[in-house]
Amino acid sequence: MATRAPNGEPDESRLEVSAAPEHSAGPRAVAAAMRHAVGQMGVRRSAATLRRVNQADGFDCQGCAWPDAEAGHRHVAEFCENGAKAVAEEATLRRVDAGFFAEHSVADLAGHGDYWLGQQGRLTEPMVLRPGATHYAPIGWDEAFALVADHLRGLDHPDQAVFYTSGRTSNEAAFVYQLLVRAFGTNNLPDCSNMCHESTSVALTETIGIGKGSVTLTDVETADLIVVAGQNPGTNHPRMLASLEVAKDNGARIISVNPLREAGLGRFKNPQRPRGVVGHGTRLADLHLPIRLGGDLALFQAWGALLLKWGAIDEEFLAEHTVGFTAYAEGLADLDWDKVEEATGLTRDQIEEGAAMIRDSAATVWCWAMGLTQHRHGVATIKEVVNLALLRGDIGRPGAGLCPVRGHSNVQGDRTMGIWERPPVWFLDALEVEFGIPVPREHGLDVVEAIRALSTGAARVFVGLGGNFASAAPDTPVTEAALRRADLTVQISTKLNRSHAVPGTTALILPVLGRSERDLTGGSPQRVTVEDSMSMVHASRGPLAPASPELRSEVDVVCSIALALFAEDHPGSGVPWERLRTDYGEIRHRISRVIPGFDDYERRIDQPGGFVLPHPPRDARVFPTAAGRAVLTVSPLDVLDLPEGHLLLQTLRSHDQYNTTIYGLDDRYRGIRNGRRVVFVHPDDVADLGLAGGDLVDLVAVWGDGVERRADRFRVVPYDQPRGCAAAYYPETNPLVPLGSVAVGSNTPTSKSVVVRLEPHGGGR
Ligand code: SF4
Repeated sequence: MATRAPNGEPDESRLEVSAAPEHSAGPRAVAAAMRHAVGQMGVRRSAATLRRVNQADGFDCQGCAWPDAEAGHRHVAEFCENGAKAVAEEATLRRVDAGFFAEHSVADLAGHGDYWLGQQGRLTEPMVLRPGATHYAPIGWDEAFALVADHLRGLDHPDQAVFYTSGRTSNEAAFVYQLLVRAFGTNNLPDCSNMCHESTSVALTETIGIGKGSVTLTDVETADLIVVAGQNPGTNHPRMLASLEVAKDNGARIISVNPLREAGLGRFKNPQRPRGVVGHGTRLADLHLPIRLGGDLALFQAWGALLLKWGAIDEEFLAEHTVGFTAYAEGLADLDWDKVEEATGLTRDQIEEGAAMIRDSAATVWCWAMGLTQHRHGVATIKEVVNLALLRGDIGRPGAGLCPVRGHSNVQGDRTMGIWERPPVWFLDALEVEFGIPVPREHGLDVVEAIRALSTGAARVFVGLGGNFASAAPDTPVTEAALRRADLTVQISTKLNRSHAVPGTTALILPVLGRSERDLTGGSPQRVTVEDSMSMVHASRGPLAPASPELRSEVDVVCSIALALFAEDHPGSGVPWERLRTDYGEIRHRISRVIPGFDDYERRIDQPGGFVLPHPPRDARVFPTAAGRAVLTVSPLDVLDLPEGHLLLQTLRSHDQYNTTIYGLDDRYRGIRNGRRVVFVHPDDVADLGLAGGDLVDLVAVWGDGVERRADRFRVVPYDQPRGCAAAYYPETNPLVPLGSVAVGSNTPTSKSVVVRLEPHGGGR
């Protein structure tokens, strides 16, 4: 039987620290997955639900965006440990109903952390917090939609509203959401991608003409070399390890570039294989480069300089398909190696060893995630990855390519559907033609800009389609104050989270179906679609009965708001919202007429596994950039100076976490049990700072705006990494990330490079 939610906050005094393991997965991962699943769903529901996840006739895992194996080549258990946790969190038997809200005031909820809030369960009915009230109270759906419509119509201008999207939103819900927002008259469509892979989208669009990765699963599994930089697949994309293992079986080599030697790239004990259950598993990384935070740009430039020096470049590809080679080569001609070693924290030998592996590779796949994107030079760093791939001709041929691994299951799909504050002109033109409505042309607000607008009152309404904005965003006190300043906050959610405890003057919680649940909107079974990191689009159908009869689908909620909002004299009323609400096939039909690559959409998602979207660089070495070719770029070498006695902190996930959803209090792959308020610091830095393992410290961020940002009560954990670097979990450390500290060109918060000092807390011990 499923367990009751924890009553109190985690007791950090029970924290245990041990050595980090050198392997990942294995029987312990299976046990952890089952323990979590049964704890949330009970035995029978766990069995019934997990056997449908990631199956061709099942539903898509709500976790990350790693692609599924080809239909017909899937296991009975086609999920990883963290996938099981993600499913269990949504399919939990725990419920948050009106009684719960009567028991817990907003102030009480605000006193709890993300773990406790998330463990309370699924929301069951619409709730409203009226001005001056202390508790949420039930509200009817129609009254709720009317309330949203009244607030939106009451604005002086549509740009006074912000419409946020989390990457779990399906293609169908995302498409009608952006249509609602644009019909209303704004492009204020910030999304979680602004905080994670925006640097990727900007860099790739400028250099290869499309903001998406260029590989397939087969490319990864048949590559000669795989570079995994700034990514921790063991926790964040665990099924990727199985593909890396297949690649190893095929003779591939792997380079891991990461400040931390993560267990996920050590030995992989694949529980689907005997050697993963009883044997030692498969060693993945052949070379680990413990790079200093933010040193990746310098490393990639050094690799470029060595490949040029060795003549290990694909001259034919460069001549035929690229521009900018001369300037690039000249830019690296007199690379400052002292600066490179300072920036990377690596020796020249280590750097050359990596370059030699690239030189000797016939086909290389370049993988990355937040460790590259969340730095002030994140865009430039990813352009350097592209430079290396272009030097080697690693685009548009088998076993090679660019592989940014997306964090959220449909974050790439949402962007494809138009969830973008800076939409391309062709998309807006196509919308106008398809629906006969005028759409706004001025770019909207991204996440950082939206927080600023809410802070100043320039924006007065916040609508969140999924997600947990209050905890995901940087500079937590600023973000929370901004949300509280809003006239109205609307959270369209499946589970209780911190954003519900940070309401505007009026606040609505609108509970929706999860991806694991049957959707009978309009009286017939509906299916939705998602797009993974490799541009594969496939269908997802939830098998479970909804957690509550009151729940509605995201599509239903969005279309119902539109129906309440647009009076007959508003152009938006010309959109067939009721038809779209009750027939998702009609939504897909409209998508296929507005967005290239979705023709014959309905028939193609009938095929097991779905279909792949076009990617001109991958498909034909065609680069739809302004130059009509792939672009090599030149970026200045950027070394971050650290003041004496300070550390450079990266915020990261534990193994029991997915974005701001906290599954549990352990981080098995780093030797942490029963606690989250820990800071990992190199043992010599611990000593130099006059501290010891286990000491209680406060983290104080240092940034040029004179504001003191603090996060208190962290235990010091001595942990191997480059000197001067540190690591701690978010959202606990998001208060340290200044709103203004962003990546140049993408405005992505620099959550991987926060300058901090450690202060003993109340005497330290
Ligand atoms: S790898 Fe990602 S998508 Fe696949 S099961 Fe695990 S969490 Fe889910």
